[in-house]
Amino acid sequence: MIQEAQLTIDLDCLAHNYNCLRSKLKEDTALIAVVKANAYGTSSVRIAQELAKLGTKHFAVAYTAEAVVLREATIKEDIMVFYPQIGQLDRIIEHQLEPVLYTVEIIKAFIVLLKQKNLKDYPVHIKCNTGLNRIGLSQEDLVFFLTKIDASSLNIKSIYSHLGASENLKPCPFTQHQINAFEVVKKTVKELCPTLPKFHLLNSSGVFNYPEHQLDAVRVGIALYGFANQTEWDLELQPIAKLSAPICQIHTLKKGENVGYNQGWKATKDSRIGIIPIGHADGIGRQYGNGVGKVQILGQTAPIIGNVCMDMLMIDLESIRCEVGTEVILFDKNTTAADFAATGNTISYELLTGLNSRIQRVYQ
Ligand SMILES: *Cc1c(COP(=O)(O)O)cnc(C)c1O
Repeated sequence: MIQEAQLTIDLDCLAHNYNCLRSKLKEDTALIAVVKANAYGTSSVRIAQELAKLGTKHFAVAYTAEAVVLREATIKEDIMVFYPQIGQLDRIIEHQLEPVLYTVEIIKAFIVLLKQKNLKDYPVHIKCNTGLNRIGLSQEDLVFFLTKIDASSLNIKSIYSHLGASENLKPCPFTQHQINAFEVVKKTVKELCPTLPKFHLLNSSGVFNYPEHQLDAVRVGIALYGFANQTEWDLELQPIAKLSAPICQIHTLKKGENVGYNQGWKATKDSRIGIIPIGHADGIGRQYGNGVGKVQILGQTAPIIGNVCMDMLMIDLESIRCEVGTEVILFDKNTTAADFAATGNTISYELLTGLNSRIQRVYQ
């Protein structure tokens, strides 16, 4: 019987998703597995270990601290850090991580550091901005870097960009514009770079939507966990995580009684309500309260009622036959995290990455 809120992670589904993605790639296209944000709320160490067993040679995280966690868990594969901060570059070197350099300042700072440490041929990646306007070198910065900066201490392993709307079905003028801008980047690099780095552009949805632009590598996150941002593509994948919790108390209420903080819900008839030990501190935000979010109990649906509390939420059991200890499912393979997130006006990414570490992770 389930004791507390738990996230059950199905490692066979992870393998399925990995193989599904691999099947869309040419043999020599590298798969960079994105395990940032605790592998999208699951567990970065365990997921990286499993993916390494499946053949993954390259991992990526957002921040330096996330990569250090993987190194300390003895993950030996390449670890790319998407958004290292200047003050973290020492740690990057200390743990043999591969930084993504995304401004001229950070490139210069890294080269200075390598010189101080007398290091050569250090593996790095360069991020170019092609229209997302989030992070990355402009075309001007790129030309400046390639012509004016002595980068002989760098081993530029790859140069990449990131699509802002890869899940939008073709034709998508914005994505086409980004693809064209990246072609200009490639041409510039080919003209000005003595050794040719690898090029990559696609995230998960991109692999489904633009496999013809897979280039030398793809950076996949959400699809490993079972989602690709279009229903049709989602059908090829299997959500790896199930979030459930037991009913921990049942109340029988008289018509007119109310439930939760600020009398968020009022019984319009005699009612049975269930208390579930998971709340907004666990990542189930207040937007799911007041009838918005729905949970599954023994194949039936019950609404979340009143305001979601920090550690608990309440559901209207109506006539569902259940008792204290009965498992309540927030999302699983059938009612997915994407479905649940949609009720709360958000996306699978936010729901999954927001799951607090106090939710037990169980593997099967
Ligand atoms: C998070 C991230 C990815 C992975 O995106 P998914 O949509 O989860 O596949 C790829 N590239 C960059 C730069 C990212 O920040």
